[in-house]
Amino acid sequence: MLSKHYQLSVILVEPQHPGNIGAVCRAMGNYGVHELRLVRPCDTSHPDAVALAAGNDDLLREASHFADLPAALADTHQSYAFTRRSGRLRGRMVESTDLPAQLIDLPRGSHVALVFGRERSGLTLDEIICCSKGVAIPTLGAKGSLNLAQAVVVALYELHRRPPDESPPQDTLPPRSELEPMFLQMETVLDRIGFVNQSCRAASMGRLRLLLQRARPDTTELSLLRGMWSQLEQSIKDWPGRKRGEPKG
Ligand code: SAH
Repeated sequence: MLSKHYQLSVILVEPQHPGNIGAVCRAMGNYGVHELRLVRPCDTSHPDAVALAAGNDDLLREASHFADLPAALADTHQSYAFTRRSGRLRGRMVESTDLPAQLIDLPRGSHVALVFGRERSGLTLDEIICCSKGVAIPTLGAKGSLNLAQAVVVALYELHRRPPDESPPQDTLPPRSELEPMFLQMETVLDRIGFVNQSCRAASMGRLRLLLQRARPDTTELSLLRGMWSQLEQSIKDWPGRKRGEPKG
């Protein structure tokens, strides 16, 4: 199941291979998506479609059929045209990895459509422009075009990875002011054990501060760090200390 807060449809525009439609149904079954819309498809009762649906042929039978893309999109609120062509769509394209972030602010109950094109020629510019945005799936090889059903799997997987209404519970991040006492503890201990050469103290401490800030410790991790420095401070309380350069032991 992808999300409880929006309704999701997959729309295929003029799919040409029955096997691909079946494989799309299989992918939808994998991710708990039930609504398939087909614009002028090839024969959906072909044995290849049923075979590749792998037990999800109910989606095939229950799919709604439309004469054109605007009709299929009529009751949707946001639609994403999957296309690798971005040339004339500057500013209206996102990458598939950004898809979950696109849906975060959607009002509850919105209907979202993911639109995919023909195997041979993809979506026309007119069809892409019917949609709210274009989505490209990043690829690395010389050929950027995925199989239709594989493109659907990637899209559903991306949405599954970070559904907007089910983001994992996160401990809160402490404000910067709460990091400062930990840094001071750290500096006290490191000074006391002679870890830092005084001539480059500021640079070294600055680096360590940056390193720890980059790790974005949450409140639990910050108390762990504070506990660690306190324990160290306590343990070396009666130790005479060592100046940098003094022999060890
Ligand atoms: N030969 C067509 C590709 C068709 S692949 C072309 O060059 O445009 C069938 C559909 O899968 C495409 O219309 C698109 O919706 C989707 N698709 C395939 N590869 C994609 C990619 N890299 N990014 C976004 N969508 C892709």
